[in-house]
Amino acid sequence: MTKTITIAHGNGGEENNELIKSVFYKHFKNDILAKSEDAAVIEDGKLAFTTDSFTVSPLFFPGGDIGKLAVCGTCNDLAMMGAKPKYITCSVIIEEGFPTRDLEKIVKSMKKELEINGAIVVSGDTKVVPRGSVDKLFINTTGIGEIQHKGISASNLKDGMSVLVSRDVGTHGATIFAAREGIELESTLQTDCASLYPEVKKLMDAGIAIVAMRDATRGGVSAVLNEWAKSSDVCVEVTEESIPVQEEVRGICEMLGFEAVDLANEGTFVLCVAKADEAKALEVLQDTHKTATVIASVSEQYKGRVILNSSWGTKRFLDLPTGELLPRIC
Ligand code: MG
Repeated sequence: MTKTITIAHGNGGEENNELIKSVFYKHFKNDILAKSEDAAVIEDGKLAFTTDSFTVSPLFFPGGDIGKLAVCGTCNDLAMMGAKPKYITCSVIIEEGFPTRDLEKIVKSMKKELEINGAIVVSGDTKVVPRGSVDKLFINTTGIGEIQHKGISASNLKDGMSVLVSRDVGTHGATIFAAREGIELESTLQTDCASLYPEVKKLMDAGIAIVAMRDATRGGVSAVLNEWAKSSDVCVEVTEESIPVQEEVRGICEMLGFEAVDLANEGTFVLCVAKADEAKALEVLQDTHKTATVIASVSEQYKGRVILNSSWGTKRFLDLPTGELLPRIC
C-alpha cells in the first residue's frame, strides 16, 4: 500500500479493492463481510443490509441528481440480493451557504425514488460544516430489505451458465463527465440512474432462478465480471461486440481513452442464470430495456479471469479497471 490515499483508491477497481482488503477487511474481518456481496445477508437469510455514501459532482445532472442517486444506489444493492427495499436511513453533510431550495429539490427527488421502491426513510442525521470543509453536500444512505429470492451470490457461477446485461452500458459515467466538463452534447445522453427493484421483481415473478446479480456501478461491467470470476473461481468469456454501448458513450470514451465496460452505471445490472433460463430472462429484461442482451458465458478455461473474445477471433484478458478513472461519479 502507498503511504497516503490517492484518488485511485476510490475507483471501484484494483486499487480500491487493495485498500479495502489491506485496511478494512484486515481489521473488521468476519464471515458476513468476507462474502463481499452487494449487501450483507443477515438474520438467517431473511434480511439484506447495506450502506453507501454519495459525493457526486455536479449535484444535478441530466437524468438525475445526488438525491435520486442516494436512494437508487442503496436500494439497488438490496435489490441485487433479491431483497425488497424497506427501511432507509439518510445522513447528510452540508456545507455552510448551501441553498435551502436546492436541498429541498434533492430531498423531493429522494422521496419520488423511495416511492418507486416502496421504501421509507426511518432515521437520519444532519451535519453542517464550515464553508470549504465539504464540497456542497454529501449524502449517506443505509438500507434494510426483505429477501424474497434466497441464495443469490457472486460465488455461485458455474460452467455453462449465461451472463446478461440489463441495458446499454456506461451512460452514467459518460453523462457525469460531460456535465462536469461542460461538454455540450447534441444528443439526449442522460444517466441510466434508476431503481432496479421493479425489474428484479419481474424476474422473480417470471420464476427465473437468479444465480448472481450485481449493479455495475463504479468499475462498471468489468469490475462485476472480474469479482464474479474470482469469487466463483470460473472463467467469464465475453463476446466483445455483444456489449451494448450508445454512440454518444463511445464518443466520450474515445475522448477520454476509457472503455465503456469500465464506466460506472447506476441503473444497469449484470445477471447470471442457468443456460435453460437464458431466453426467459432475456425476454423479461428486454421488456424494460430493448438493449438488454446476453454478453458472456461461464467456462473453466482460465479460472478467476475474464476473457474478451473479439469478432476478429482474438482473445484478451479483461482486467479490473485501474488508475484514476472518473472520481466523484457517485
Ligand atoms: Mg452494487
